[in-house]
Amino acid sequence: MRTKRLWSKPLTLFNAVLARRPRTATPIAITSHARFFAAAECALDDFYIFDGIPDTSGTILDFTFSYINPNAERRLGMPRETLYGKILTEVRPFMIESGLIHKYREVVRTGTPYTCEVYIDDEMIKATWLNVQVVRLGNNSIAVTSRDVTEHRRRSDHIHYLAHHDHLTGLANRMLLHERLRQAVLRAQNHGQKVAVLLIDIDHFKQINDSLGHADGDVLLATVGQRLLSSVRESDTVARMGGDEFVIIMPEFRTLQDIMHCGQQIIRNTVQPVEISGRNISLILSVGVSVFPEDGCTAEELLRNADAAMYNVKDTGRNNLQTFDERLLPARRTTA
Ligand code: GH3
Ligand code: MG
Repeated sequence: MRTKRLWSKPLTLFNAVLARRPRTATPIAITSHARFFAAAECALDDFYIFDGIPDTSGTILDFTFSYINPNAERRLGMPRETLYGKILTEVRPFMIESGLIHKYREVVRTGTPYTCEVYIDDEMIKATWLNVQVVRLGNNSIAVTSRDVTEHRRRSDHIHYLAHHDHLTGLANRMLLHERLRQAVLRAQNHGQKVAVLLIDIDHFKQINDSLGHADGDVLLATVGQRLLSSVRESDTVARMGGDEFVIIMPEFRTLQDIMHCGQQIIRNTVQPVEISGRNISLILSVGVSVFPEDGCTAEELLRNADAAMYNVKDTGRNNLQTFDERLLPARRTTA
């Protein structure tokens, strides 16, 4: 439903500001309007005033552009005079898609200010992430201040990435591994599924490092990481724990047989000879497996028990994959 626009024809900016003053405005009120106008015009942020369009019951349906400062005008990429009086959602359908129009209406209804960071998927706006703050003015109007925070967002995303990934392989690091394993255990609990944890350690990696040099050792570690990653499903997580130790979390399993079959396949893919500096390097892996819920109910327990199973493989000839067994824990304690 269309309602009468508050302003039927564009007004010049200062007239627009004056037109907003109460009919009984005193000289002091007029001065404060002029001050507001001067401040808004040179604000570093984008600044808008929108007037609410009420239905017969007084509920706000939409808004019209009432004031746009020069920064906001640049952001929108069109002369502000052409927007005054126009209906917000008609000019920017993104307001409906993003749900922002609903938030704006709520600010008018409740008087509670609203702040958010919003990803702008809107050709009209020359920014990706905006920080938006909305406050109610009198008479069904709102003031919206917004700021381009794309660069800040990109930097914090990058910092978040660095904090959760291993710099050598690009895989999840220990912190992200724990987070993902906790989530996988929670989901498996709710859906009655199994989660497999594979702890993989390269056999005799020190010798490879010594003969190739540390830099080529790094290349080998990165290659192993990539091979593990390309051997698993998208829903699985591959992490580097540190050194030559990797972990795979495989959720959504039903039987131990399926888990062992997948584990064997991953090992076969990963141990293909690697050519580094003109030499073919053979790889051997020792792999310990623990399964939720049989071998542990928490991320920590599952990792500890996969580690115990892996060390048992090392102790019993390496180059193998074994599941955890309760008897491994006391045996490891006495040999430690
Ligand atoms: P094991 O057969 O018992 O597994 O022994 P290993 O020789 O493979 O050595 P271990 O797993 O105990 O230790 C991993 C070694 O990997 C220790 C260190 O020399 C090497 N290493 C650890 N981090 C890095 C790294 O970032 N780059 C390289 N090139 N080597 C690393
Ligand atoms: Mg090793």
